[in-house]
Amino acid sequence: MTAAFTPPSSGLLFDNSYRRDLPGAYLELSPDAAPAPQIVVLNRALAGQLGLDADVLAANPGWFAGGSLPKGAEPIALAYAGHQFGGFSPQLGDGRAHLLGEFLGPDGRRWDLQLKGSGRTPFSRGGDGKAALGPMLREYLISEAMAALGVPTTRSLAVTLTGEDVWREAGRLPGAVVARIAASHIRVGTFQFFAQRGEIDKLRALTEYSIARHDPDLVGTEGRELAFFDRVVDRQARLIAQWMGLGFIHGVMNTDNMALSGETIDYGPCAFMEGYAPGTVFSSIDRQGRYAYANQPLILGWNLARLAESLVPLLPGEREAIIDALNVRLGSIAGQFRAAWLDVMRAKLGLEGAAKDDGALVDDLLAAMNGADWTLTFRRLADAVAGETGSLRPLFTDFAAMEAWLPRWRARLAPDAAAQMRAANPLVIPRNHKVEEALDAADRGDLAPFHALLAQITDPFRDGADREAYALPAPSDFGDYVTFCGT
Ligand code: AMP
Ligand code: MG
Repeated sequence: MTAAFTPPSSGLLFDNSYRRDLPGAYLELSPDAAPAPQIVVLNRALAGQLGLDADVLAANPGWFAGGSLPKGAEPIALAYAGHQFGGFSPQLGDGRAHLLGEFLGPDGRRWDLQLKGSGRTPFSRGGDGKAALGPMLREYLISEAMAALGVPTTRSLAVTLTGEDVWREAGRLPGAVVARIAASHIRVGTFQFFAQRGEIDKLRALTEYSIARHDPDLVGTEGRELAFFDRVVDRQARLIAQWMGLGFIHGVMNTDNMALSGETIDYGPCAFMEGYAPGTVFSSIDRQGRYAYANQPLILGWNLARLAESLVPLLPGEREAIIDALNVRLGSIAGQFRAAWLDVMRAKLGLEGAAKDDGALVDDLLAAMNGADWTLTFRRLADAVAGETGSLRPLFTDFAAMEAWLPRWRARLAPDAAAQMRAANPLVIPRNHKVEEALDAADRGDLAPFHALLAQITDPFRDGADREAYALPAPSDFGDYVTFCGT
C-alpha cells in the first residue's frame, strides 16, 4: 500500500534543484538556532501570492531564524566570487545566509527561500554571521517598496528577532534574520567563481542550470550561451533603467550583488535620491563615488563584461571570434540601456508614442532640474499638464529653465497624460528620514512607525492629503544622509 501524498500544510513544497544539480557550488550546513525566535513582521500578502499558509508560518517562528526547519528544507551556503569596488575577491560566498531550499508556487514557479543573518559559515571570514534588527527591517521596507513600484526584486517574507543581541559600532543591538524570496540567488559572481578556478565542467553545469531556470525556452538550442547572455543584458538594462527612473541608488553594485534573474538583490546601503544630483552617493564606504546615481548604467556594462569574460571558456569556436562576438554585445549595452531608460522616462513624462527628439527633451529637463526633488518633480508635473504649475514651482530655486521647457513637453503629451503620469510616478517613496525614524523606533521596541511607513510605501501611487508627511523630502536639519552595509 502506498501512502497518499499530503502536501505540507505550510504550502512550502520543497524541491532543492540547486543542491541536487550543482555539487561544488555550495556547502551544506545548518543555520544557528535562535534562542527565542519571535516574528516581528510577516508578509501575509506575499505568502498568499506564493501559495503559503500565513497562519502556519506565523506559528513556526523557528523556521525563519534557524532552530527548526520546515520539512524538506536542506540548508546550504552558496559559493561565489566577485569584484567589490573593482577589486576581485576569488571567494566570497554566503557569509551570513542560508538557502533553506526552493519551493514551487501555485503556478509552478520556483522560488528560493533564504535566511540572512542566520549564523557563520565557512565563507564568513571575519564576520559574525549575524544581523541587527534595523538593517533587516530596512531590507524588508525597501524591497517591498520596490515591488510595489513595479521593480523586479527579491521579496521579504518575514523578519524574526533571534532573542540574541549582536555587537555593532553603535553598541549592542537586537539580532534578527530576514527571510527572503528570490527567483534565484545566481549572481555574476557565481559564474566568476568557477571561471577563475578553471572548473569548466562546473561552469557549464551552472550555465545549463541557469538557462533552465530563467530562460527555459533556450534549453538545448544552438548558441544558447550567447542567447542567455543577451537575455541577462536585456533584464539588467531594463532593471537599471527602472532604478534610474525612481532615483534609486543601489550603493553596492558589486558583481556578487548582480542577479542573473534581473531582480534587484542585496539591500544594504541603498537609498533614494531626493534632490536631483547625478553624483549622489549615500554609502559610507563608496568614497570614490563608483556607485553614484549616474554611474549605475556604466557599472551595468562593467559588471556584464565580467560575466562575458566568465563565459569565454564555454563558447565554441576560435578564441578571437568569441571575443569579437562578446565585444559586439558589450559595445551595444550603453545603447540598450539608453533605449530602456527612454522608455521609462517617456512613461514618466506622459509622452505620446516615441519621437526622435525625446532624448534631448529628457536631457534638457534634467539640466533644468538643478537639485529639485526627483520624486515630487515628476509627480507634480502631472498637475502641470493642464497648465497648473503652482505645485511644481516651489520645488525649484530657479524656475526659468523649466518655464522654457514646459511648452516643448506639452507639445508631446499623450491624450491621457496626467493619469498615465500618476500611475508611473510615485507620490510616496521610502524617504530617508522616515526610514531612519522607523528603524530607530524599532530598535527601541516600537514598531508602530515601521508599520505605518510600510503601509505608505507599499501603496506608492495613491493621492491623498493624509500622505503629505510621507511624501515630502527630509527637513534640512536631517543633514547629509549616510548609509552602511554589512551590518
Ligand atoms: P554584501 O556587502 O552584503 O554583499 O556582502 C559581501 C560579503 O560579506 C558576502 O560574502 C557576505 O556574506 C559577507 N558578510 C556581510 N556581512 C557579514 C557578517 N556580519 N558576517 C559574515 N559575513 C558577512
Ligand atoms: Mg551580497
